[in-house]
Amino acid sequence: MITAEKLEIFMATPDTALHLDGALYIDGHWVAAVAGDSREVINPADGSALQRIDEGSAADVLAAVAAARTAFDDGPWPRTPATERSAILFRVADLLDRNRSRIATIDTLDTGKTLVESGVDVDDVAAVFRYYAALAVGDPGRLVDAGDPAVVSRVVYEPVGVCALIGPWNYPLLQMSWKVAPALAAGNTVILKPSEVTPLSTLILVELLAEAGVPAGVVNLVLGSGAAVGAPLVESPDVDLVSFTGGLATGKAIMRSAAETVKKVALELGGKNPNIVFADADLGAALDAALTGAFLHAGQVCSAGTRLLLEDSIHDEFVAELARRAELIRIGRGSDEKTEMPPLVSAEHRAKVEGYVDLGRAEGARLLCGGHRPREAELQEGFYYTPTIFVDCNREMRIVQEETFGPIVTVERFETEDEAVRLGNDTAYGLAGAVWTADRARAHRVAGRLRHGTVWINDFGPYLPQAEWGGFKLSGSGRELGPSGLAEYREAKHVYENTAPSAQYWFSGAKPKE
Ligand code: NDP
Repeated sequence: MITAEKLEIFMATPDTALHLDGALYIDGHWVAAVAGDSREVINPADGSALQRIDEGSAADVLAAVAAARTAFDDGPWPRTPATERSAILFRVADLLDRNRSRIATIDTLDTGKTLVESGVDVDDVAAVFRYYAALAVGDPGRLVDAGDPAVVSRVVYEPVGVCALIGPWNYPLLQMSWKVAPALAAGNTVILKPSEVTPLSTLILVELLAEAGVPAGVVNLVLGSGAAVGAPLVESPDVDLVSFTGGLATGKAIMRSAAETVKKVALELGGKNPNIVFADADLGAALDAALTGAFLHAGQVCSAGTRLLLEDSIHDEFVAELARRAELIRIGRGSDEKTEMPPLVSAEHRAKVEGYVDLGRAEGARLLCGGHRPREAELQEGFYYTPTIFVDCNREMRIVQEETFGPIVTVERFETEDEAVRLGNDTAYGLAGAVWTADRARAHRVAGRLRHGTVWINDFGPYLPQAEWGGFKLSGSGRELGPSGLAEYREAKHVYENTAPSAQYWFSGAKPKE
């Protein structure tokens, strides 16, 4: 069935064409997968097939790694002056601006998310490229005082080498940009492995990187599944670093596999993020943020505020109003400008979310709203689900402890600040959390005690390219964004120069004959 949602429309004009002669990009060329496999990319809004793309395998990984290795060992990129690399990354940002609507459209078709959100994602991706373009220059390393005037001791920062960058399906371009921009700024060569569920916008990013002047072999793209492409990338002895964003189980498997070759590994994993509201907070703002925190992108957000903790005295009124507003959220196609909450990414993922709702009921949580698929006729083909609120929840429930990655929020009560902090930390994850209160001293006390990589005070969700993002505990290791996001892609090297060498005769018997 050809619908206005189909990619063919966007391929009809050169302005919006998606390069699909071959969907793998190796050593500066678009190529077909060696084994000739392909798969259909599905539009979550109606379950229709969007585009058939190539599906790589270990043979394609081998070719991509070889290209990246040669480009790193013998090519110009690692030795290109940082100012030139920076200029190219600024050009990438300009090209992203110019291609904003094309990329946003394709990301909406592919991920399901609303066009507004896809557009914001593209803006954020451009901002990340600009941030690392600027950070790439002007770092001469540092001089160290060796305690000897004849010695010049310097610490310099060099690229790590060949980096495998593996991304998730929920924010395909944004999460990839957090990796590829600093990796290139630091002078590495890369192999991109987007999620096979939502790979299309990464194809455009690769086009734009080439157009901006990134040399052949520096950026390579292999599409395909985690098992067929991701695993051999992690195993390869020619890959020096793996940066991964995705689920906890995959992250653990990657860490185990990377140990064999002692690779550097950076992991951005999931979260079960507490949103703590004290009675003295601006409740209008807190309520609005609780709604967005839980239901933006249908809750398919690693930092979603899925665990709402309310001070006892405001609990009943707060949840009643939250449920009233949740039921008013307009569900629909991401491409429809009236839509506020899009479908889930796939039928398989919706089944997982539905499994959690069944579990919540079975565990004794009380369903306040949602808990079913929407009933409108026009929403029957896509993977839609209603905003779902569970109250009377407690820490023993799996629905309170596990990442559901759907439009589900669980609500618990607390009476004291200590109890709020205890519940806020009562998760194996440690990605993000928020505290709402008019008492600034309390806000900072609580922020200081929460074991999460990001804490928002009287807000929920913002992040900045210039501030580190990452997880405590099972939410990951390493940091993206900020200066640390660049440091992940650099090795420190100590260069020690003796300007006045003289024999020391450590071995006294080895002195020359007089
Ligand atoms: P997955 O862990 O399923 O997959 C992530 C990526 O890893 C995909 O590209 C996948 O390939 C690939 N992969 C799967 N198995 C392997 C393997 N053995 N070796 C190497 N690569 C592999 O996560 P999702 O895509 O389902 O993403 C959702 C998860 O990501 C959530 O848990 C979410 O919290 C987390 N996330 C974390 C963020 C953060 O900043 N901390 C941000 C965004 C998401 P394929 O799917 O193509 O088979």
